[in-house]
Amino acid sequence: MVNLKIFDINDSCTGCGACISVCPKSALALEYNQDGYYYPILDESRCIKCGLCEQTCHVCNGSSTNITEYVPPTHAFMIKAHDKNIISQSSSGGVFSLLAGKIIKEGGVVFGAVYNFDRERLEHTSSDIVEVDLLRKSKYIESYTGNIYKEVENILCKGGKKVLFVGTPCQISGLNRYLTIKKTDRNHLLLVRFVCHGVPSNQFFTEYKHYEENKYGGKMISFDFRPKDKGWGYSCWKMMFDNNKTVFGPYNFFYYYTYFQKNTLLRRCCYDCDRITDNNIADLTIADFWGLAKFRPEIQENEGMSLVLAHNSKGIAWISKIADTCFIEKVPLSAYSYIFNEAKERKKWLEENTRLMSLIREKGYMNVVKHELRTEILKSKIKSIAYKIYLSICGK
Ligand SMILES: Cc1cc2nc3c(=O)[nH]c(=O)nc-3n(C[C@H](O)[C@H](O)[C@H](O)COP(=O)(O)OP(=O)(O)OC[C@H]3O[C@@H](n4cnc5c(N)ncnc54)[C@H](O)[C@@H]3O)c2cc1C
Repeated sequence: MVNLKIFDINDSCTGCGACISVCPKSALALEYNQDGYYYPILDESRCIKCGLCEQTCHVCNGSSTNITEYVPPTHAFMIKAHDKNIISQSSSGGVFSLLAGKIIKEGGVVFGAVYNFDRERLEHTSSDIVEVDLLRKSKYIESYTGNIYKEVENILCKGGKKVLFVGTPCQISGLNRYLTIKKTDRNHLLLVRFVCHGVPSNQFFTEYKHYEENKYGGKMISFDFRPKDKGWGYSCWKMMFDNNKTVFGPYNFFYYYTYFQKNTLLRRCCYDCDRITDNNIADLTIADFWGLAKFRPEIQENEGMSLVLAHNSKGIAWISKIADTCFIEKVPLSAYSYIFNEAKERKKWLEENTRLMSLIREKGYMNVVKHELRTEILKSKIKSIAYKIYLSICGK
């Protein structure tokens, strides 16, 4: 029996997939655990006990990086693309699309997450495979990385092409550690992480998708966690089916999205994540600038504004490169400290996660969420109808 440390970290595993990419014998694969989160699985017959997987694991080794240059997080900006089309197709201010556009213009490759409807999973892929537009927007599902870090390394090793890689903080830690082990030159790489409060399971999303498909009598052909039909700040969800039905509503009308917003059905390691404050890992951190109203109340922003933290001179250089395509303003430290406040809530969320997961293992995901949320969702719908009646009575 092969005894590997990567299997001892259990709940701390982030499913980043760096061990999969680094294995010289393809002895490891990312597969669902019992709750539908990705974990490495070993084919012992292929394992040569080289230990590369353990050396590469960012959890086994702490968040290790050889990027030593550190710029204090006072280098923060608020950014909003000039292009209205980009804004409407992005989660916040469209900074991802601006960076992606620049990289592609310079002949480079962009890596991000796209939902694959055939395989029913969110997966990391590149603009060599799919249109960059499909990589846009936040998808509140864990993404499958497979061998993606190897693909990044191959492009960087060939030289010449620039690479933009966007992912969760743990995916960025994983890629960073992988490239360190592989001694890959990062000169042409721009590493961007987004502020992430956690990812729900792909399997739960699939079960939920099947539930909605059954309900509406068609195959889901698109979904959007961040439609801006009613503005940036309105948390809602839109899905389309192959029978021409479109369903749109506030997040608390939908089981899956309600739990995402409650933070109680996320991957276990997300409740113990410190990567938000680990500033050295990425070149840039991007986020929704939810603190804008407090920082600049005179800006009535309804279309979306990104918050961008630059961690080194490379990050700052890329911000300068996109500066002519957007509204951009420097932001002080106090304007983004709100990001760190949520950490206090984590213990409460974890307790609720433990309760819910034990119920789900016994009764199944959809049975539990329907039972737990039925009254809450009904109340949200009644409130919404009452509000609409009130508006029509007032003639608004
Ligand atoms: C699971 C999750 C949780 C988030 N939590 C917060 C939060 O708490 N606070 C906050 O301010 N912002 C959060 N964000 C980030 C935010 O929603 C926007 O992604 C960010 O503001 C950038 O917006 P944009 O308009 O520049 O780019 P967008 O066009 O929205 O680009 C988003 C980028 O992220 C990639 N991506 C999308 N979903 C995933 C995924 N599941 N896994 C890996 N990569 C993905 C896309 O490929 C794209 O590169 C979260 C995003 C996700 C996916």
